[in-house]
Amino acid sequence: MPENLEVGDVSVGRGESKKGTIKGVELVDGTSIDIPVLLMNGAGDGPTLLVQSTQHGIEIQGIEVIHRVMRELVNPEELRGAVIGIPVVNPLAFTYHKYLSWIDDLDVGRVDADKPEGNTTERLAHALWKEAWSKADLIVNIHCNTRPDSLLYQGINVGIPATRDKLVKMAEVFGVTTIVSDAPLAENAPPTLDNLAASKGVPVILEELIDGRWISEPSTSAGVKGVLNIMKAFDMIDGEMEPQEGIRVVPGVNRSHGIIRANKGGLIRFFKTPGEFLKKGEALAEIYDLYGDVVEEVRMPVDGYVWAYPCGQSLNTSGGLQAVQTGANVAYAFTHEKEWPP
Ligand SMILES: [Zn+2]
Repeated sequence: MPENLEVGDVSVGRGESKKGTIKGVELVDGTSIDIPVLLMNGAGDGPTLLVQSTQHGIEIQGIEVIHRVMRELVNPEELRGAVIGIPVVNPLAFTYHKYLSWIDDLDVGRVDADKPEGNTTERLAHALWKEAWSKADLIVNIHCNTRPDSLLYQGINVGIPATRDKLVKMAEVFGVTTIVSDAPLAENAPPTLDNLAASKGVPVILEELIDGRWISEPSTSAGVKGVLNIMKAFDMIDGEMEPQEGIRVVPGVNRSHGIIRANKGGLIRFFKTPGEFLKKGEALAEIYDLYGDVVEEVRMPVDGYVWAYPCGQSLNTSGGLQAVQTGANVAYAFTHEKEWPP
Protein backbone atom coordinates (compact mmCIF):
# COMPACT_ATOMS: atom_id res chain seq x y z
CA MET A 1 0.00 0.00 0.00
CA PRO A 2 1.47 3.39 -0.97
CA GLU A 3 2.12 6.20 1.56
CA ASN A 4 0.00 8.39 -0.64
CA LEU A 5 -2.97 7.00 -2.52
CA GLU A 6 -3.58 8.95 -5.71
CA VAL A 7 -6.79 8.74 -7.69
CA GLY A 8 -7.77 11.39 -10.23
CA ASP A 9 -6.93 14.82 -8.86
CA VAL A 10 -6.66 13.71 -5.21
CA SER A 11 -3.83 12.38 -3.14
CA VAL A 12 -4.43 11.11 0.40
CA GLY A 13 -1.77 10.40 2.98
CA ARG A 14 -1.97 7.81 5.76
CA GLY A 15 -4.92 8.28 8.09
CA GLU A 16 -6.69 10.77 5.81
CA SER A 17 -9.94 11.03 3.82
CA LYS A 18 -10.48 13.34 0.86
CA LYS A 19 -12.78 13.85 -2.08
CA GLY A 20 -12.05 14.75 -5.68
CA THR A 21 -12.71 13.80 -9.27
CA ILE A 22 -11.47 11.55 -12.02
CA LYS A 23 -11.30 13.44 -15.30
CA GLY A 24 -13.96 12.07 -17.63
CA VAL A 25 -15.07 13.46 -20.98
CA GLU A 26 -16.20 16.80 -22.45
CA LEU A 27 -19.58 17.49 -24.05
CA VAL A 28 -20.06 19.49 -27.23
CA ASP A 29 -20.18 22.77 -25.31
CA GLY A 30 -17.00 21.97 -23.46
CA THR A 31 -18.75 20.98 -20.22
CA SER A 32 -16.68 18.44 -18.31
CA ILE A 33 -18.38 15.23 -17.26
CA ASP A 34 -16.10 14.01 -14.50
CA ILE A 35 -16.42 11.19 -11.98
CA PRO A 36 -16.63 12.12 -8.28
CA VAL A 37 -14.49 9.96 -6.00
CA LEU A 38 -14.10 9.56 -2.21
CA LEU A 39 -10.77 8.33 -0.95
CA MET A 40 -9.75 6.99 2.44
CA ASN A 41 -6.19 5.95 3.15
CA GLY A 42 -5.91 4.00 6.39
CA ALA A 43 -3.27 4.45 9.04
CA GLY A 44 -2.37 0.77 8.76
CA ASP A 45 -1.33 -1.57 5.96
CA GLY A 46 -3.90 -3.62 4.10
CA PRO A 47 -5.64 -4.09 0.78
CA THR A 48 -7.24 -1.36 -1.33
CA LEU A 49 -10.99 -1.87 -1.64
CA LEU A 50 -12.91 -0.17 -4.45
CA VAL A 51 -16.67 0.21 -3.90
CA GLN A 52 -18.55 1.56 -6.88
CA SER A 53 -22.18 2.27 -7.65
CA THR A 54 -24.39 3.35 -10.53
CA GLN A 55 -22.70 1.74 -13.51
CA HIS A 56 -26.30 1.81 -14.70
CA GLY A 57 -27.62 5.34 -14.24
CA ILE A 58 -30.93 4.45 -12.59
CA GLU A 59 -29.46 2.18 -9.91
CA ILE A 60 -28.65 4.59 -7.13
CA GLN A 61 -28.81 2.65 -3.84
CA GLY A 62 -25.06 2.01 -3.73
CA ILE A 63 -24.41 5.76 -3.55
CA GLU A 64 -25.91 5.80 -0.06
CA VAL A 65 -23.97 2.68 0.92
CA ILE A 66 -20.69 4.36 -0.05
CA HIS A 67 -21.60 7.54 1.84
CA ARG A 68 -22.53 5.65 5.03
CA VAL A 69 -19.41 3.48 4.98
CA MET A 70 -16.92 6.20 4.07
CA ARG A 71 -18.40 9.25 5.79
CA GLU A 72 -19.96 7.74 8.93
CA LEU A 73 -18.83 4.26 9.80
CA VAL A 74 -15.16 3.79 8.96
CA ASN A 75 -12.47 5.98 10.42
CA PRO A 76 -9.18 6.26 8.49
CA GLU A 77 -7.24 6.14 11.77
CA GLU A 78 -8.62 2.65 12.39
CA LEU A 79 -8.47 1.42 8.81
CA ARG A 80 -5.87 -1.02 7.51
CA GLY A 81 -5.58 -0.49 3.77
CA ALA A 82 -7.53 1.99 1.69
CA VAL A 83 -11.02 2.53 0.31
CA ILE A 84 -11.85 4.13 -3.03
CA GLY A 85 -15.55 5.03 -3.30
CA ILE A 86 -17.08 5.95 -6.64
CA PRO A 87 -20.75 6.83 -6.14
CA VAL A 88 -21.57 7.17 -9.86
CA VAL A 89 -19.30 5.40 -12.30
CA ASN A 90 -21.33 6.42 -15.32
CA PRO A 91 -22.32 10.08 -15.00
CA LEU A 92 -23.32 10.02 -18.69
CA ALA A 93 -26.13 7.66 -17.71
CA PHE A 94 -27.03 9.04 -14.26
CA THR A 95 -27.30 12.67 -15.38
CA TYR A 96 -30.13 11.82 -17.76
CA HIS A 97 -31.72 9.14 -15.52
CA LYS A 98 -30.83 6.57 -18.13
CA TYR A 99 -29.62 3.01 -17.81
CA LEU A 100 -26.72 3.53 -20.26
CA SER A 101 -24.69 6.50 -21.49
CA TRP A 102 -27.22 8.80 -23.15
CA ILE A 103 -24.65 9.83 -25.74
CA ASP A 104 -23.94 6.45 -27.36
CA ASP A 105 -26.15 3.93 -25.52
CA LEU A 106 -23.12 2.05 -24.26
CA ASP A 107 -22.45 0.41 -20.91
CA VAL A 108 -19.27 1.61 -19.22
CA GLY A 109 -18.88 -1.87 -17.70
CA ARG A 110 -19.08 -3.70 -21.02
CA VAL A 111 -16.99 -1.61 -23.38
CA ASP A 112 -13.22 -1.92 -23.80
CA ALA A 113 -11.46 -0.16 -20.94
CA ASP A 114 -7.98 -0.05 -22.45
CA LYS A 115 -8.65 2.57 -25.13
CA PRO A 116 -7.72 6.14 -24.14
CA GLU A 117 -8.45 7.15 -27.73
CA GLY A 118 -11.69 5.14 -28.00
CA ASN A 119 -15.29 6.32 -28.23
CA THR A 120 -16.92 8.41 -25.50
CA THR A 121 -17.98 5.63 -23.13
CA GLU A 122 -14.72 3.72 -23.76
CA ARG A 123 -12.84 6.80 -22.58
CA LEU A 124 -14.85 6.86 -19.36
CA ALA A 125 -14.10 3.16 -18.87
CA HIS A 126 -10.42 3.79 -19.48
CA ALA A 127 -10.38 6.64 -16.96
CA LEU A 128 -11.98 4.32 -14.39
CA TRP A 129 -9.44 1.60 -15.14
CA LYS A 130 -6.39 3.84 -15.06
CA GLU A 131 -7.32 5.87 -11.99
CA ALA A 132 -9.24 3.42 -9.80
CA TRP A 133 -9.72 -0.18 -10.91
CA SER A 134 -6.03 -0.79 -11.64
CA LYS A 135 -5.18 0.38 -8.08
CA ALA A 136 -7.64 -1.90 -6.27
CA ASP A 137 -7.14 -5.34 -4.73
CA LEU A 138 -10.84 -6.03 -4.09
CA ILE A 139 -13.83 -4.60 -5.96
CA VAL A 140 -17.50 -4.40 -4.98
CA ASN A 141 -19.71 -3.31 -7.89
CA ILE A 142 -23.16 -2.33 -6.61
CA HIS A 143 -26.17 -2.52 -8.92
CA CYS A 144 -29.90 -2.69 -8.18
CA ASN A 145 -32.95 -4.32 -9.58
CA THR A 146 -35.80 -1.91 -10.19
CA ARG A 147 -38.63 -3.11 -8.02
CA PRO A 148 -38.69 -3.11 -4.20
CA ASP A 149 -39.89 -6.74 -4.03
CA SER A 150 -36.84 -8.14 -5.86
CA LEU A 151 -34.44 -10.48 -4.11
CA LEU A 152 -31.12 -8.98 -3.04
CA TYR A 153 -28.47 -11.14 -4.64
CA GLN A 154 -24.83 -11.28 -5.61
CA GLY A 155 -23.10 -12.76 -8.62
CA ILE A 156 -19.67 -14.37 -8.55
CA ASN A 157 -17.73 -16.07 -11.32
CA VAL A 158 -15.84 -18.97 -9.75
CA GLY A 159 -14.34 -20.11 -13.06
CA ILE A 160 -11.12 -18.10 -12.76
CA PRO A 161 -8.64 -19.76 -10.37
CA ALA A 162 -6.81 -16.50 -9.59
CA THR A 163 -9.90 -14.85 -8.09
CA ARG A 164 -12.05 -17.79 -7.03
CA ASP A 165 -11.16 -18.10 -3.34
CA LYS A 166 -11.40 -14.38 -2.65
CA LEU A 167 -14.78 -14.15 -4.40
CA VAL A 168 -16.16 -17.08 -2.41
CA LYS A 169 -15.00 -15.40 0.79
CA MET A 170 -16.50 -12.04 -0.21
CA ALA A 171 -19.83 -13.63 -1.13
CA GLU A 172 -20.05 -15.70 2.03
CA VAL A 173 -19.61 -12.72 4.32
CA PHE A 174 -21.71 -10.26 2.31
CA GLY A 175 -24.45 -12.76 2.96
CA VAL A 176 -27.19 -12.30 0.35
CA THR A 177 -28.46 -14.93 -2.13
CA THR A 178 -25.50 -16.03 -4.26
CA ILE A 179 -25.72 -16.88 -7.93
CA VAL A 180 -22.56 -18.43 -9.32
CA SER A 181 -21.24 -18.81 -12.83
CA ASP A 182 -18.02 -20.49 -13.89
CA ALA A 183 -16.74 -18.92 -17.04
CA PRO A 184 -12.98 -19.22 -17.52
CA LEU A 185 -11.22 -16.06 -18.69
CA ALA A 186 -10.71 -16.62 -22.42
CA GLU A 187 -7.44 -15.54 -23.94
CA ASN A 188 -9.31 -13.31 -26.38
CA ALA A 189 -11.75 -11.97 -23.76
CA PRO A 190 -12.64 -8.32 -24.47
CA PRO A 191 -10.73 -5.88 -22.24
CA THR A 192 -13.72 -4.81 -20.16
CA LEU A 193 -13.17 -3.53 -16.62
CA ASP A 194 -14.16 -6.94 -15.20
CA ASN A 195 -11.87 -8.88 -17.52
CA LEU A 196 -8.91 -6.56 -16.99
CA ALA A 197 -9.34 -6.94 -13.22
CA ALA A 198 -9.66 -10.73 -13.48
CA SER A 199 -6.51 -10.92 -15.57
CA LYS A 200 -4.66 -9.17 -12.72
CA GLY A 201 -6.17 -11.59 -10.18
CA VAL A 202 -8.44 -8.92 -8.66
CA PRO A 203 -11.87 -10.24 -7.57
CA VAL A 204 -14.95 -8.24 -8.58
CA ILE A 205 -18.19 -9.10 -6.83
CA LEU A 206 -21.48 -7.93 -8.32
CA GLU A 207 -24.04 -6.92 -5.72
CA GLU A 208 -27.65 -6.36 -6.75
CA LEU A 209 -29.67 -4.37 -4.24
CA ILE A 210 -33.34 -3.60 -4.87
CA ASP A 211 -35.65 -0.63 -5.51
CA GLY A 212 -32.87 0.94 -7.55
CA ARG A 213 -34.43 4.31 -8.22
CA TRP A 214 -34.94 5.23 -4.60
CA ILE A 215 -32.74 5.37 -1.49
CA SER A 216 -34.58 2.97 0.80
CA GLU A 217 -34.43 0.06 3.19
CA PRO A 218 -33.50 -2.74 3.23
CA SER A 219 -30.99 -1.91 0.48
CA THR A 220 -29.00 0.62 2.50
CA SER A 221 -28.60 -1.53 5.61
CA ALA A 222 -27.90 -4.73 3.71
CA GLY A 223 -25.36 -3.01 1.46
CA VAL A 224 -23.57 -1.33 4.36
CA LYS A 225 -23.48 -4.55 6.39
CA GLY A 226 -22.15 -6.51 3.41
CA VAL A 227 -19.37 -4.04 2.62
CA LEU A 228 -18.31 -3.82 6.28
CA ASN A 229 -18.31 -7.63 6.53
CA ILE A 230 -15.98 -7.82 3.53
CA MET A 231 -13.69 -5.27 5.18
CA LYS A 232 -13.69 -7.36 8.38
CA ALA A 233 -13.03 -10.59 6.48
CA PHE A 234 -9.98 -9.08 4.81
CA ASP A 235 -8.75 -7.62 8.11
CA MET A 236 -9.24 -3.97 7.07
CA ILE A 237 -11.32 -3.09 10.14
CA ASP A 238 -12.06 -4.69 13.51
CA GLY A 239 -15.46 -5.98 14.55
CA GLU A 240 -17.80 -8.94 14.57
CA MET A 241 -19.39 -10.19 11.36
CA GLU A 242 -23.01 -9.08 11.15
CA PRO A 243 -25.25 -11.58 9.39
CA GLN A 244 -27.94 -10.26 7.05
CA GLU A 245 -31.32 -10.14 8.75
CA GLY A 246 -34.86 -9.33 7.69
CA ILE A 247 -34.33 -10.10 4.01
CA ARG A 248 -35.13 -13.26 2.10
CA VAL A 249 -32.01 -15.31 1.33
CA VAL A 250 -31.98 -18.51 -0.74
CA PRO A 251 -28.95 -20.18 0.84
CA GLY A 252 -26.18 -22.18 -0.78
CA VAL A 253 -24.99 -22.14 -4.36
CA ASN A 254 -27.51 -21.06 -6.99
CA ARG A 255 -27.22 -20.76 -10.72
CA SER A 256 -28.94 -18.50 -13.22
CA HIS A 257 -31.43 -20.28 -15.43
CA GLY A 258 -31.95 -17.29 -17.70
CA ILE A 259 -34.68 -14.88 -18.59
CA ILE A 260 -38.36 -15.74 -18.90
CA ARG A 261 -39.87 -13.65 -21.70
CA ALA A 262 -43.36 -12.61 -22.73
CA ASN A 263 -44.98 -14.18 -25.79
CA LYS A 264 -47.90 -11.76 -25.77
CA GLY A 265 -48.23 -8.04 -25.21
CA GLY A 266 -50.25 -6.41 -22.48
CA LEU A 267 -50.31 -5.61 -18.80
CA ILE A 268 -48.96 -8.15 -16.36
CA ARG A 269 -49.88 -9.32 -12.88
CA PHE A 270 -47.56 -11.40 -10.73
CA PHE A 271 -48.55 -14.29 -8.46
CA LYS A 272 -45.28 -15.13 -6.73
CA THR A 273 -42.78 -13.20 -4.66
CA PRO A 274 -39.12 -13.31 -5.72
CA GLY A 275 -37.32 -15.89 -3.60
CA GLU A 276 -40.43 -18.08 -3.25
CA PHE A 277 -39.90 -21.67 -4.49
CA LEU A 278 -41.71 -22.50 -7.75
CA LYS A 279 -42.33 -25.90 -9.31
CA LYS A 280 -41.67 -26.39 -13.00
CA GLY A 281 -44.82 -25.43 -14.91
CA GLU A 282 -46.27 -23.33 -12.10
CA ALA A 283 -47.77 -20.02 -13.23
CA LEU A 284 -45.83 -17.06 -11.87
CA ALA A 285 -47.66 -14.31 -13.73
CA GLU A 286 -50.33 -13.64 -16.31
CA ILE A 287 -50.51 -11.16 -19.14
CA TYR A 288 -53.85 -9.53 -19.96
CA ASP A 289 -54.82 -7.32 -22.86
CA LEU A 290 -56.38 -3.89 -22.83
CA TYR A 291 -59.86 -5.45 -22.82
CA GLY A 292 -58.97 -7.22 -19.57
CA ASP A 293 -58.81 -10.72 -21.09
CA VAL A 294 -55.93 -12.98 -20.01
CA VAL A 295 -53.82 -13.73 -23.07
CA GLU A 296 -50.92 -15.67 -21.54
CA GLU A 297 -50.05 -17.52 -18.36
CA VAL A 298 -46.32 -17.22 -17.75
CA ARG A 299 -44.97 -20.48 -16.34
CA MET A 300 -41.78 -21.43 -14.55
CA PRO A 301 -39.54 -23.43 -16.93
CA VAL A 302 -37.77 -25.34 -14.14
CA ASP A 303 -37.97 -26.03 -10.39
CA GLY A 304 -36.45 -22.89 -8.91
CA TYR A 305 -36.92 -19.24 -8.07
CA VAL A 306 -37.12 -15.81 -9.63
CA TRP A 307 -34.98 -12.99 -8.31
CA ALA A 308 -36.75 -10.08 -9.99
CA TYR A 309 -39.52 -9.00 -12.32
CA PRO A 310 -38.02 -6.48 -14.70
CA CYS A 311 -41.40 -5.90 -16.41
CA GLY A 312 -41.01 -4.49 -19.90
CA GLN A 313 -37.24 -4.51 -19.84
CA SER A 314 -35.42 -5.91 -22.80
CA LEU A 315 -31.76 -5.62 -23.70
CA ASN A 316 -30.27 -2.27 -22.71
CA THR A 317 -33.50 -0.73 -21.48
CA SER A 318 -34.84 -0.27 -18.01
CA GLY A 319 -38.22 -1.64 -17.15
CA GLY A 320 -40.65 0.99 -16.03
CA LEU A 321 -44.30 0.09 -16.51
CA GLN A 322 -46.08 -3.04 -15.38
CA ALA A 323 -46.55 -3.92 -19.02
CA VAL A 324 -44.73 -6.11 -21.54
CA GLN A 325 -44.35 -6.49 -25.25
CA THR A 326 -43.62 -9.75 -27.03
CA GLY A 327 -40.05 -10.73 -26.17
CA ALA A 328 -39.84 -8.46 -23.13
CA ASN A 329 -38.21 -9.77 -19.98
CA VAL A 330 -40.78 -10.94 -17.44
CA ALA A 331 -38.59 -12.64 -14.82
CA TYR A 332 -35.01 -13.62 -14.05
CA ALA A 333 -34.98 -17.27 -13.00
CA PHE A 334 -32.46 -19.31 -11.05
CA THR A 335 -32.08 -22.78 -9.62
CA HIS A 336 -30.61 -24.01 -6.36
CA GLU A 337 -27.58 -26.17 -7.13
CA LYS A 338 -26.04 -27.32 -3.86
CA GLU A 339 -25.01 -26.27 -0.39
CA TRP A 340 -22.25 -23.74 0.23
CA PRO A 341 -19.39 -23.52 -0.74
CA PRO A 342 -19.25 -23.56 -4.55
ZN1 LIG B 1 -27.15 -2.70 -13.21
